[in-house]
Order: sequence, then structure tokens, then C-alpha cells
Amino acid sequence: MERSLNQAQLSDNHTRLVIPRPTVITLCGPSGSGKSTFAARNFPANWVLSSDKFRGLVCDDERNQDSSKDAFDLLYWILDARLRYGRTTIVDSTALTVQVRRELLQIVHRHDFAILLLLIDAPEKLCRERDAARIDPPPVGAKVVEKQFKLYQEVENNAQKEGFDQIIKLNQHEITNLQVEIVPLSLEKPEQCGPFDLIGDIHGCYDELCELLKKLGYQEENGIYRHPLGRRTVFLGDIVNRGPKNLEVLRLVNAMVKTDNALFIPGNHCYANYRYFQRPESVDSNSTRNWIERLGTKEYLEVGELINALVKNAPPYLLLNQNKLVVAHAGIEEHMIGKLTPRIFNFCLNGEILITPDGNKQRKNWAENYRGKPLVVYGHTPTTKLFPEFRNNTVNLDQGCVYGGRLSAMRYPEMEFIQVNVHAAYAERKKRGA
Ligand code: GDP
Ligand code: MG
Repeated sequence: MERSLNQAQLSDNHTRLVIPRPTVITLCGPSGSGKSTFAARNFPANWVLSSDKFRGLVCDDERNQDSSKDAFDLLYWILDARLRYGRTTIVDSTALTVQVRRELLQIVHRHDFAILLLLIDAPEKLCRERDAARIDPPPVGAKVVEKQFKLYQEVENNAQKEGFDQIIKLNQHEITNLQVEIVPLSLEKPEQCGPFDLIGDIHGCYDELCELLKKLGYQEENGIYRHPLGRRTVFLGDIVNRGPKNLEVLRLVNAMVKTDNALFIPGNHCYANYRYFQRPESVDSNSTRNWIERLGTKEYLEVGELINALVKNAPPYLLLNQNKLVVAHAGIEEHMIGKLTPRIFNFCLNGEILITPDGNKQRKNWAENYRGKPLVVYGHTPTTKLFPEFRNNTVNLDQGCVYGGRLSAMRYPEMEFIQVNVHAAYAERKKRGA
């Protein structure tokens, strides 16, 4: 996954920390490093789960280590509940033991939440001085601070491997002066209400795409198709590979996106093309290699640029029309909507492959279990039927165009299907569970 997609960023000369939501922010640092002060200054009180406060709640003594088990059980329970409600949450504990971090990660991953580790860095001397000056709660003592410091140094070395999506270390100047901003994910576009023409997997079928756009009422001008009523196309990914005119499709889709006539989300084939230009040896997809490696130098460079422009910063799904419409190439599960993690990114592009009891691979039929309110429009798995069908508030617009089927569009909000027949079967259908 492109790291910039859902990552917190220190910007404006380290005066702002911009964090996409929803997320879990785990503060980590020795006692006295300034965690609670930082949390109180930057987040609403309801968002902050403090292990000290839970100790106080169970036994009136924030320093009573004997109450830690109860305090953390409460903290985990409320974290779990908040994540069920999709709420951004700050965990204010030292987070210095592997067990605590592991427990937090387990809960967070169970909910497919992103998790950021904020290392609250402070010199040991400063922590000791601050600790000694505490009145309520009383000091933890120099020995404890010293021990915590040793553990803190280990966290710095180990946390990367433990499963945090991102780790940011803040120094004392930043901790005191930063403005924290919690922002929506870039894939949330509630204000984009359509009307849209959603188009399923094109796979290089350029002639059929042009025919479909004309049938939808678009008019061609200088290589761009525009709709006279300002409708916009939404391309559902897999615009390339397997078919005859990948470059032509790439040029057209790129031009329509650039001129704001279309929105685009990537599919697994688009992403394979993108990765090919990053690291060719990492791509074993024949359908990518087959056409890209036959291009002349000039076209090769052009394709690299077009793919990069389209795919590099494209979110894996879009949340449109006041959150009533979701578009994702391979689909999305209800609890993933409104979130973004590497696992969700992967699901939206590739779906999920399950191993059946007899050892065969089968694509998970997530739509069968979908009960969400937003309509999910997707592609990826070519249907055997030639006409799209609604199922549990989802609809698959891949009618296997490149395999001799049809290229499909759906008018939204009209929910009307417009299709064209493919001119030839350009590829052979893979035998795989639907
Ligand atoms: P924690 O143990 O990491 O949660 O640290 P706290 O946020 O409780 O801070 C420990 C002590 O240091 C408290 O008495 C704070 O008032 C003080 N403190 C925290 N941050 C700052 C700071 O930026 N400047 C100063 N002067 N004191 C601070
Ligand atoms: Mg504290």
C-alpha cells in the first residue's frame, strides 16, 4: 500500500501533526515524559483511555500497581467498544511492555483499525525531575523511571516488527508545540453526489469503452469523453491487461480523470502494472508482462507515467454521495467502510482467497454476507450471467467483457444498466470459483 495514503504526517516545519481518522494512537514513553499532558492538550477527554485513570477508578490509587490487571482489562474493554463504534481513540499508558502492546494490537487488528505509535521522547533527567516534583498522583520514584527508560529504548528497536502501521517519535519541543489535526481519509468524498456512470472491468477493451461512453450520452472531443449534462464516469479498476488496447484505455481514463470528467479506483491489474514500473522483478503477472514488455521505448515511458499518475495516490475505494455509495474494485466488507489499513487496501483490490475443505482456492463471496447500508458497486470477478444483478445492496459490474462477455455501466442514482457486447473474446476465462 502506498505509505502516504493513510499516514500521519508532521508538516509545516514540524508544527502540525496531521492524522487521518479513524485511528488508534498509542502513546509510549516513561513516566514524566509528558504523555498525559500531550493527550489532554490535543484530544477530547472521551477519546483518551488512561491506565492511571483506570487504576484510580478501581481502587482510588493511580499508582497502585496491584490494580494494573483490572485497570487494563477495563481499558481493553472500552477500547474494544469504542472501535466497534468506529471511534478514534488514544491509549495513554507507558506501553512499555510487549504484553500491553500485543494486546492493543490484537484488539485494533480485530477491528481493522489503523494504529499509530507515538513515541514521547524525553531525556531521562527531565523525567526524573518532573516525577520528583509530582504531588498528585505522587512520584513513581527514580528507580522506576530508570527501569522504564531501559524498556523504552527496546521499544524503539522492536516496535516496527510488532505490527504498528506507523511510528512517529516526538521530541520535547514538538510535544509542547505541535498542533494535532485529525482529518478525514482522502477516500471520503461525501460531497460527490453524482450523477455517475459506473463502469466495470475494461481490460484494454478500448473500442467497446468508446462505444459504451457514446451509448451513455458522452461526446468525444480531443480524446476526452464528456457528458453534456455534467455526469461523471467512475472507473471501477482493472482498466488494463488481457485485452487489445491497454495504452489507448490508459490515455483516455487518465485524460478523463485529469479533466474531472471521471473518478478512478485501481484494481489488482492496475496495481500489478504500477508495481512493475517500481520493481519489475516483483511482478509475476503474465498479463502485465505480456503487453508492457512488448512496448517500444517511447510507449513504455508513456505507460509508466500514465500508470503512475493514476495509481500512485489512488485510494483503494471511494465513499461517495453522503456515504450512500461505495466503489471498490473487488468489493469491501461492511466493517471496513470508512477505514483504511494495508489489509483493507488489499481486500479492495484483490478480495480474499479462501482455501476450501478440499484444498482448492476460492474467492471469498463477501457480497453474500454484506448487510451494510451503503450500496457497494464493484467488479473483479466476472459473472457468468451477462446482466448485472443486485445482491444484498451490492452489484457486480464485471460481465467478463474481455472474455467475450459484455462491458457494463450503471447509471447512478437511476440504477439503470447500459451494456455493449464485446467485439471478440480477447482472453480465455480462468477456471476459478466465483
Ligand atoms: P506522563 O507521565 O508521561 O503522562 O507525563 P505527564 O503529562 O503527567 O507530565 C509529567 C509532569 O510534567 C506533569 O507534572 C506535567 O505538568 C509536567 N509537564 C508535562 N509536559 C510538560 C511541558 O511541556 N512543560 C513543562 N514545563 N512541564 C510539563
Ligand atoms: Mg500520564
